[in-house]
Formats: sequence, structure tokens, C-alpha cells
Amino acid sequence: MLKKLKFNYNLKYGDVFIGVAILAVIVFALIFKSFVYKNEFENSMERLEQVVEQQTTVINEIFDDIENYIIMTSEFISRDNNINEICENLNIYAKRQDFKEIAFVDTTGIGVNNNGTVVDLTEKDYFLKSLNGDICIDTEKNSDKYCDVDVIISVPVIDQSENIKGVLAARFQLYYINFFKDINITNEDVKITISNGNKDIIYDSEKFDINMAGRFENKIDYDIKYIEPSSGDIVIDNLNSQKSGILEYKLGGERKFAYYMPLGINTWNIFVIVPETYITNQMEIINYAVIKLIVCTILSALLLFALIIYIINNTNKKIMNTNRELKISEETFRISAEHGQKTIFDYYPDENIINVIVSNCFYGMPKLIYDVPESFFTKNIIDESYRSTVFEAFDKIKLKEKRVSFSVKCNDCNNKSIWANFDIMNVFDENGNVIKSIGVIEDVTEKKNAEEMYIKEKNLKEAMTGDNMIIVEVDMNTGEFKIDATMNVEINSLKLLHNSFESFCDTIYNKYIFEEDIKIAKYIVESDNELRNIELRARFVKNGVEDYRWISVIKNIIKNPVYGINKSFFYVKDIDKAKRQAILLKYNAEIDILTGIFNRATVEKKITEYMSEEHKSAVVMIIDVDKFKFVNDTYGHSVGDEILKISASRIKNEFRKNDIVGRLGGDEFIVLIDGIKDMSVVSRKAENLSSPYVYKVDDIEIELTLSIGIAKFPYDGNGYNEIYKKADEALYLSKNGGRGKYNFYRQM
Ligand code: GH3
Ligand code: MG
Repeated sequence: MLKKLKFNYNLKYGDVFIGVAILAVIVFALIFKSFVYKNEFENSMERLEQVVEQQTTVINEIFDDIENYIIMTSEFISRDNNINEICENLNIYAKRQDFKEIAFVDTTGIGVNNNGTVVDLTEKDYFLKSLNGDICIDTEKNSDKYCDVDVIISVPVIDQSENIKGVLAARFQLYYINFFKDINITNEDVKITISNGNKDIIYDSEKFDINMAGRFENKIDYDIKYIEPSSGDIVIDNLNSQKSGILEYKLGGERKFAYYMPLGINTWNIFVIVPETYITNQMEIINYAVIKLIVCTILSALLLFALIIYIINNTNKKIMNTNRELKISEETFRISAEHGQKTIFDYYPDENIINVIVSNCFYGMPKLIYDVPESFFTKNIIDESYRSTVFEAFDKIKLKEKRVSFSVKCNDCNNKSIWANFDIMNVFDENGNVIKSIGVIEDVTEKKNAEEMYIKEKNLKEAMTGDNMIIVEVDMNTGEFKIDATMNVEINSLKLLHNSFESFCDTIYNKYIFEEDIKIAKYIVESDNELRNIELRARFVKNGVEDYRWISVIKNIIKNPVYGINKSFFYVKDIDKAKRQAILLKYNAEIDILTGIFNRATVEKKITEYMSEEHKSAVVMIIDVDKFKFVNDTYGHSVGDEILKISASRIKNEFRKNDIVGRLGGDEFIVLIDGIKDMSVVSRKAENLSSPYVYKVDDIEIELTLSIGIAKFPYDGNGYNEIYKKADEALYLSKNGGRGKYNFYRQM
């Protein structure tokens, strides 16, 4: 699992994120810890303070009791009269309070104790103080032994006349007093110590634990550290300031804390001593809690992180699966494509790039095609006429359409025109995002052609039904043929006379085709190409007179090498009426009505066409009637018209059939003499035309001349306009030279 996580996750900034998060948690935890720590320390100290205060009260009460008892005893003693009586009573009083010793001295300081022993208190401070009337509490160290300190309470003994009779002093050790045990606090690790101003321990709650006691020294070194409870600052203190405070010190190698407080008795202090753990336990709990907090937070962060990675991995896995499936299907594609005639490519819509993966034939395509689909046309891969189809299809793919198919004419790698079917699919992931687009190109030429043929055949049949004279279907492999010529019984019956299509055709040529068009008819039959509306004339005899009718022939070829089909269809249609009308229309459009030669537009067009052909040479003549205005003015327009007609036919007759003769307008004509090399022939013809000629119109005879300008193509100019200009210049020369003349442009 870990390995998987390690190798599979790809959260780029996840590591940094987690690192920062963990650091933040640690910093936060430490701040939190120090805050809680301080609070907890203060709480601990507060609790200690409360304990100390309680104990102070208790101890003070105990001392009050003892004091009262001694005062009471001193009153009894003041009433006793002799020393024996006093001794006897002292013993009773001592036993009652577990005093170590109780003694009575007179004002000299000499007296007896409860054992009857003589005591001398003259040197003792407490004696002197009590002799002055004070109640005095004092301590006295007996030995170097730990806690071997006596407490002495001394009171003045006052007689009935209120004079001080002497001093009563009781001596005891605090730990002998059983009730001290009861003031111990709940935690057994806590001990209470009472110390006097000399730092002697006068009470220690652990005194009776010998093992423990052995480990302690006689004195507490109070000068270690003093912690001011309010500020927490550590200062040195001599404990004589009669303030409460906290001590941190080492005893027997152990770190201790103590809360101390003046007892209110002399300069005594009560200490509640707690081991380090009393405070640090809490701290450890806090530490533990903080560590737990950090660990938990980090663990949950890691868990969350792992969860995120798991989700990502899972998604990745799904995508990988999808990709794998895709790969499999791609492979399937590849194999099927290798076996079939398919080309497969990846298309990247964002980059407009196609990457050809499998290619049986690139259709003229390189492996990588940029700027798709525009480059299909700039690189001449797809026929220009399919531009909108292709662009629409690629737009749809870009708009995430699942699948788009279209058929276009393409150029294959041999630059042969083929039909290609493009099938482009978008592959989606589970979130509906396009992973990639895959395209398959299939050569469907045969399919498409067959389909096209079928449609063509159907359309043609439909189009021709009704006005077809004849439909001939020929099997080019066997030579078998069928004739459907319901409207022409004669042709229909020909089928019976001919076994082969060839002999049938021979009869047709000889008997049914206008002689001039036999060549065309043979071309129609023999051509390997399909032909559209070839017009020719069919012979027939009408009322004994031979005539012809215009027919049109369509030749259709259906080839399917797969099925071994190779058929030709001939559709023959009678177009005579329409054709004759068209001829007339064309004639009218091309011919100058007055003169019957080509009009200006036609002649100009024909000459231009002639000149655009290669390797042509010609001579162009412009011919203008001289003084024609005079004819019009003298004899009228109709005579003028006749003169124009005669001029046109004179000109036409002067030249060959192939030469182009036309009227440019008014009395101006033009002639193109085709492929002439011998200029003397041209000169002779020009001479003939320009010489005076007598025009006979009705009864009128008018002698007129023509002026001529000649230019040579391509010698004098390259196109019609240039040649016309040159010939016109020559004509101008002829007019200027006195009319009835001809001039070559070069002669100028
Ligand atoms: P030039 O020797 O310089 O050629 O003198 P011209 O009198 O022949 O003068 P031009 O060639 O300029 O005269 C052409 C005349 O032909 C002018 C016009 O009235 C006349 N015309 C133009 N078209 C026709 C037409 O169709 N019929 C008749 N009768 N006259 C025409
Ligand atoms: Mg003229």
C-alpha cells in the first residue's frame, strides 16, 4: 500500500502542504502547551498555598492549645506552696501533654522539673523573657540528629498579689504530638516541614520513616531558589522576609518544590514540600496531551492525505483503465486497419494536429498534419469542393460530438482521385472529458462509385424515360447487348438481325447516321470514357427526300471489378427541334443580319480565340468602303445597305472557308487569313478588293473602291487589339494615300 502510494501519487504540492501543516500543528501545540503549562503551574501553586494556609491554621491552634495548657498549669503552680507539691503536680501535667520535660524555676532561674531534678534556666533567653511577663516559644537543638529539636514554651508564674513568682517552661518535640499526623495532606508524597529561624527542622511529617529520613540532611538549604508566586521570577531569598513563596531546590539529588509560609510563631516557617512530579506530573499530562494532539493531528492529516491520494490514484487507475481499454481498442483498430484498407489517426482538437498512426496509404498525407482541417485543402489532400463539409465535421468534433462521419474526394499517395470516408470519434473519460479523438479513413472509392453509378443510372433512366428514342445496354465483356427502342420499331427489330454489338453498330453507322457525323458516332461507341450529350445527326428519308434529325447521345459506363461488371449504356434522345432552334439562335447571335457574315462581337471573339492558340500565324485586314457616306447621302440608306451586302460577299468570296470574315460596323470589315506565309497572295487579294468595282443596285451602277490596312500576326502584335491598331494605322495610310489602296503595317 505504502509503496503504491509512494510511486503512484502525483500531488505536486501535497508534500509541501503536509510539511507546512505539520509544522503549523507543532508550533500551535507548543504555544498551546506553554500556555497550559503556565496555567497549570499556577494552579498547582495555588493548591499548595491553600494546603499551607490550612496547615498554618491547624498548627497555630495546636500551639494555642499547648500555650493555654501551660498557662493554666502555671496558675495551678502559683497556688502550690511547697516544692514537693509543685514537683508532684508537674509530673502529672507533663504526662498529660506528653511533654518531654516541664520545669518550674523561681525568679533566680533555679528550680525543679517534673522528674524532681534541679534545673538552671538562668542562661536561657526564654526564661529572661518570661520573667519579664512574656509567653515565649523557643527551640533548642539537642544533637546533630535530624529533627532532634525541642520546642520550649515558657510562661511567667504569677502569684495572687500579681507578682511574678517564677517561670514555667515546658519542653517537647513536635513530632511526639500525635495529632500532628492528622494534619497531613491527602497526597502521601507531600510532606510538611516546620523550620525555625535557624533553619532547624522542628517538625517533619516524614520523621518516622527511617529510610526516608536517612536520606535527608539536617538542614534544608533555603538559599537555592525562590520563585515569586505572582511573577514567577526566580530570586534568592533568606526566608526572613516573613512572606510566603515557592522554593525550588534539590535534596538528596531530587528536585523538590515547596510552598512556604510564616507560621506566625517566632520566625518559623511551614513548608509544604512536594516532589517534582507533583508539578511535572501535570506537565507530563499536558506534554502527553500535546504530543497526542500533535500525533493525532499529523496522523489525521496523513490519513486525509492518503485518502486524497487514494482517490486520485483511484481516478488515475480508472483513467488508466480507460486508457488501457482505449489502447486495446486502438490495437484492434490497428490490426483491423492493417487487414482492411484503413488509415487511422489521432486528432488533437486544441492543437489542430493530426498524427497518423496506421497508414495503408496516406492519401497524400504526411505523418503529422498541422493546421487541420485547413491544410487538407492547402496541401491538396481533399478536393476543394468539400471544404464546408470538412470544416463542419471538425467543428462538431471540437464541440465534443461523439462521432462524425463524412465522405470526400481525396488524392491518394499516387495522386489518384479516390473516395475516402472519414469516421472521427471522441473518446471520453468517466467525467465526460474528451481524452482524445480518433479518426479512421477508409477508401470507399469502389463502394462510392458503385453507389454513384447506381444513383446516376437511376437518375439517367428517370431523366430519359419518356423522350428517349433508344436505350442500348452493352456487356463489354461478352458483347451481348439489349435494345429498348419502343418508339422506334425499326431499330428495335435490328436486334434480331445482329448477334454482336459490333455488327449492329456497323449497320447503324451506314444506314442511320448522317454521313458527316459517322466519325462522331464511332467515337461514341469506341470511347472508354463516359460521354455527355454528344450531338449528331441521324439520317432518315422523308417523302423520298433524304433528311436528318439531330440526336444526342449519353454514354454511361458501369465498372465493378469485384463483381466483374463492365457495361456501357447508350441513351439516345431526339433533340432535333431544340437543336435547330438553338442553331438558329446561335446564328442570329453570331451573324450580322444585314451582310450574313460574323458580327463584330463574334469576329472579335473568334480572332481572339485564334490568336490565343499556339503556333498560329495569320494576316489581318481591315477593309473600309471609300466615301460611303456619299452613297447614303446620294442614293439613300437602302442602296447603302445593298452596297454593304455586296461588299461583304465580295470579301467573303475572296477568302477561304477557314478564314474569318466579319463586319465591324458601318462600312468597316475585318478578315483573318489563316496560316498564310506567302505575302504576295495577300497582296493580290488586297489588290483585287481595293480596285474600283462597279456595284449594281437595281438600275443604279456605282463605282466604288475599298481601302485596306494589313497587319501580320504575331509579327506586328500579340493580340487582337494590338493587331487591329496596327492594321487600322495601315488603313489610315491607305485612306490618306488617296483611297482604293492597301498598305501593310510594316511598309510605313
Ligand atoms: P471614307 O472614305 O473616309 O471611309 O469616307 P466614308 O464616307 O466612307 O466615311 P465613313 O466610312 O466614316 O462612313 C461610314 C458611314 O456608313 C457612316 C454611316 O452613316 C454609314 N452607315 C453605317 N452603318 C450603315 C448601315 O447599316 N447602312 C447604311 N446604309 N449606312 C450605314
Ligand atoms: Mg468609309
